[in-house]
Amino acid sequence: MFRALQIVLRGKSQAAGLVSHFSTAPNSQRLAGKVAVITGAASGIGKATAAEFIRNGAKVILADVQDDLGRAVAADLAAGDDDAATYIHCDVTDESQVAAAVDLAVARHGHLDAMVNNAGIVGSLSPTPLSSLDLADFDAVIAVNTRGVLAGVKHAARVMTSPRHRGGGGSIICVASIAGVLGGVTPHPYSISKSAVIGVVRAVAGEMARHGVRVNAISPNYIATPLVMRIMAEWYPAMSAGDHRRIVEREINEMEGLILEPEDVARAAVYLASDEAKFVNGHNLVVDGGYTVGKVPNLPPPPAAK
Ligand code: NAD
Repeated sequence: MFRALQIVLRGKSQAAGLVSHFSTAPNSQRLAGKVAVITGAASGIGKATAAEFIRNGAKVILADVQDDLGRAVAADLAAGDDDAATYIHCDVTDESQVAAAVDLAVARHGHLDAMVNNAGIVGSLSPTPLSSLDLADFDAVIAVNTRGVLAGVKHAARVMTSPRHRGGGGSIICVASIAGVLGGVTPHPYSISKSAVIGVVRAVAGEMARHGVRVNAISPNYIATPLVMRIMAEWYPAMSAGDHRRIVEREINEMEGLILEPEDVARAAVYLASDEAKFVNGHNLVVDGGYTVGKVPNLPPPPAAK
């Protein structure tokens, strides 16, 4: 049984008045002049990251497999400035499509400064024991979450380390998860795929540093994106969507009075893509309100003092 369920059953007491908030100043231009490719940008964290990058002055190539949604999101974010947001169909399991998304950024804008490898899937959600693990499901999850990320790292590196690339350098950001840090909070294939993303970052950051390119991971806790709401609906079919959201926002997350939102991850990505993070390399930036270091174990209360 996944730990999320145990946490829910524990019935953590909650304070009322959760705050959903913070927006960077509308005139913030921390990514002015930068060009980014974001995979999985039609929805959830990728969409929020595209919005935050554009708000901060970047030009963004949105890459996804949901073409209608992706085009609509790009048109919405571009807000009349065709250069600000461009959609491209890109299945990250196909290396040539990842290469094409990177090449589109260079063809359209002349360079690539940030690559956000965000596309991800969760795979089968049935809580099967390890002895019945479906290796075909494992392969499918790894193909998107790990191999797809590695393809993005590879092709961003191809451009960013090229002598022809203006000034060299760049920032590669890979979206991992707390499931890559902790076991037992998601199905095994997803957890393994995300710890491998952190492994990719550690493996390549040193080599990339010698080209002035930084490679980092971001590991969010559960956020009520379409991906997670689908998980909740499958795990707890008798509950309402409102209950699913409450479980994600309050029961699984530890930060009292605050809700973890896609924009929180997007702003972590803005930081890593910006020159403010010029010496941050090979890092896994955990965005979880302290969940992975501060989870309170579900123990019976100790006996009262005599
Ligand atoms: P989401 O489902 O809202 O968005 C994922 C996007 O990836 C979708 O637009 C989807 O079409 C796209 N995608 C899926 N397969 C693809 C492929 N083969 N090629 C290109 N695009 C593809 O989910 P999300 O929650 O925004 O997830 C974004 C990333 O964040 C994922 O890597 C996910 O594992 C990770 N993550 C999410 C959470 C969370 O709680 N939501 C927590 C930790 C990590």
